[in-house]
Amino acid sequence: MSHAELAQRHRRVMPAWLDLYYDEPIELVRGAGRRVTDGEGREYLDFFGGLLATMVGHDVAEVTEAIQAQAGRLLHSSTLYLIRSQVELAERIARLSGIENAKVFFANSGTEAVETALLLATQRRRSHQVLALRGSYHGRSFGTVAATGIRGWSATALSPLAVTYVHSGYRYRSPFGNLDDAGFIAACAEELRTIIETSTAGDVACLLAEPVQGAGGFAVPPDGFFPAMKEVLDDYGILLVSDEVQSGWGRTGRSFFAMNGTGATPDAITFAKGLGNGVAIGGVVAPAELMDCLGAHSISTAGGNPLATTAGVATLDYLLSHDLQANADLVGKRLFAGLRDIADGCPLVGEVRGMGLMIGVELVVPGTRDPAVTATSRVLEAAREHGLLIGRGGLLGNVLRVTPPMTVTAAEADEALAVLRAVLTEVSIVEQKENA
Ligand code: PMP
Repeated sequence: MSHAELAQRHRRVMPAWLDLYYDEPIELVRGAGRRVTDGEGREYLDFFGGLLATMVGHDVAEVTEAIQAQAGRLLHSSTLYLIRSQVELAERIARLSGIENAKVFFANSGTEAVETALLLATQRRRSHQVLALRGSYHGRSFGTVAATGIRGWSATALSPLAVTYVHSGYRYRSPFGNLDDAGFIAACAEELRTIIETSTAGDVACLLAEPVQGAGGFAVPPDGFFPAMKEVLDDYGILLVSDEVQSGWGRTGRSFFAMNGTGATPDAITFAKGLGNGVAIGGVVAPAELMDCLGAHSISTAGGNPLATTAGVATLDYLLSHDLQANADLVGKRLFAGLRDIADGCPLVGEVRGMGLMIGVELVVPGTRDPAVTATSRVLEAAREHGLLIGRGGLLGNVLRVTPPMTVTAAEADEALAVLRAVLTEVSIVEQKENA
């Protein structure tokens, strides 16, 4: 059966809001290293899946074999019994979090992880008021949709939380004008204080923040942003929840959890996506004092199940023993420099930004800062034609997201750069002609 037929069946039986990439969606059937193969035998370099799921690459023997062995021993989903891999994984994440006296709760997704963090923060502070960053994405449940600051991902406005948005530190479209870093950070912190004082009832539970915004288009605030925001939060006892569903595990190259690398200490960190290298897992790490604040039982049937936590232990082992954080830094810098070089000769690129293996390329109508949304779709389609899968994002839908598995090599980075150079040049010429 062709991709087209399968896509038709998908459309008939699945929700319209479950969006697929590409005019002709791809069915992925196999993966090895940083490459995936579709149902028609075409191979692609996978520079998006590394963030979504396969953190250490496709079909890594150490991880796959651990998953297979566990599947052969015991498949169970109940947190009512002791599960060795769950305790071991929790201990490791607690240690790696940098949080003192940390405890870990396992869920099945990023959404559930953030929902749990919101439950803890609102319960601890006895307030349903939450601050979130503009351009944020936190999940698809009732609570996390409410905290999501991108209209395209906010399926309902009927929020159970009172959410107020503050500036995310995204500089390219800053409302504060042309300031240097110190001035910009001071303006963001001042805005945060003003919002707390004037637009909330004063007893806010937490600020939910992605250290590098994922769906928001890999916007990275300048150094010093989060410590300045945290200083304001501390004046009011407001907790800082770092949503590291995308930025955790050393992907930013700088620190294992990205918030720790900013110099601000989070009160809780949420994680998911890559930890199971494709097997669903998510969770929260927080100090015992916050984690234990719930006054009733709260369990997740499958959260922390033996298969997921075995996959997590194996993935983490692989990540740490191969020092993939260093690789993310090294190859990330190569990709970044290559993309900056492409941008220099390409008027379609407004900004290249990011950290480690989270690199965003914001596309604009040449000569302006207007978002080039159609061009972004064209680049995505053309890259696919050239055998390269990348992501898109941004508040306005005009950002390319380049984020391969953390095992990516310099040669693969160069291969992707060659495709992106060709494709961006090609689409840039088309756009210039159309806008002439
Ligand atoms: N938080 C962030 C920062 C995310 O990027 C995502 C997923 N894109 C989520 C939460 C939700 O994760 P999931 O899709 O696993 O529920």
